[in-house]
Amino acid sequence: MRLHDKSFVPYLSEAEIMTAVKQVANAIAQDYKNETPIFIGVLNGAFMFVADFLKAYQHPCEVSFIKLSSYQGLTSTGIVETLLDVPENLDGRSVIILEDIIDTGRTLQKLVHLFADKNVKEFKIATLFYKSSVYNGEYKVDYFGMEIPDRFIVGYGLDYNELGRNLKEVYQLKQPHMINLVLFGKPGAGKGTQAEFLKEKYNLKHISTGDVFRYNIKNNTALGTLAKSYIDKGDLVPDEVTIKMLQDEVEKNSEASGFIFDGFPRTTAQAEALDAFLATKDMKINATIALDANDEVLIQRLLERGKVSGRSDDQDENKIRNRFEEYNLKTAPLKDFYEAQGKFHSVNGIGAIDEITARLAKVIEEL
Ligand code: AMP
Repeated sequence: MRLHDKSFVPYLSEAEIMTAVKQVANAIAQDYKNETPIFIGVLNGAFMFVADFLKAYQHPCEVSFIKLSSYQGLTSTGIVETLLDVPENLDGRSVIILEDIIDTGRTLQKLVHLFADKNVKEFKIATLFYKSSVYNGEYKVDYFGMEIPDRFIVGYGLDYNELGRNLKEVYQLKQPHMINLVLFGKPGAGKGTQAEFLKEKYNLKHISTGDVFRYNIKNNTALGTLAKSYIDKGDLVPDEVTIKMLQDEVEKNSEASGFIFDGFPRTTAQAEALDAFLATKDMKINATIALDANDEVLIQRLLERGKVSGRSDDQDENKIRNRFEEYNLKTAPLKDFYEAQGKFHSVNGIGAIDEITARLAKVIEEL
């Protein structure tokens, strides 16, 4: 189904939506059936939800609406305006906000603020759809119909640039074809250098775990202090720390059309965690591409890099050899892991930078 310039695919049926609506109505009825709460629907998106909600809520109640605006297109503009104000005479009343969807919580923040001086008896927040993974507001969401992943949805009152509100079902934005690559190879193999070219060529987000650690070290964060003790010796940082950090980096870039993972995964546990994590987002690794080069070439490259980069782990041959040992012991087995999935490729990592980019591009374009 197309709305404006975008394609959408079915996500929730009418029956699934109704189950979620009834869930909210029943939960609120449990708490409020002995008084007369005022439900306040948030326009425009919540109009269908409010109508079905009221049909499912067969106890005394009042209803009113408020209108704010915060969305334009696919992402929040962050600008919230009041277009239809809070009803009068809420003194001593129980007010329950009915939202169609809560994502970052920015609109909610503004909403709660509008009721701050109204002297209400109780103020509760109910939403049909709840993107709990991106919600970072300070208020508790008291009732929700269903949790949904961080996807753009339309239908059942929700729009894409005003179209789609009249759909009985909910649709989600069709994900464009994504490419996720792992660049594989020993320290100095050229993963970072090649990632710089590939990210431009294929419009991918480059995540280098080594760079993220170094950024944290430079900024004296707790993560940096922890990582430094391992990195300085040429040891791997513990899996649980690295995995969490990688997940945060992916979450921060939810709009990316694909990723280049550089320096991750480096252990089987990391590779397994990456697969499991990507699966929760309907994503997967398309290919792992190794850059092959022998140790003596790599040691020379790293020592040269150490002279300009200032990286202490590049300046000492013993630390470099320890990094190779870590690689042979913990990272090399990933070749079998990805070969078993039919995703392992390798290219000759020795030669001019652009020749190597061309070798990588050939593999990527054949995927
Ligand atoms: P790199 O810049 O990729 O060579 O990484 C530099 C150092 O950061 C490594 O020697 C490790 O100490 C640490 N590091 C980077 N990525 C990982 C990872 N996936 N797992 C554990 N440690 C890592």
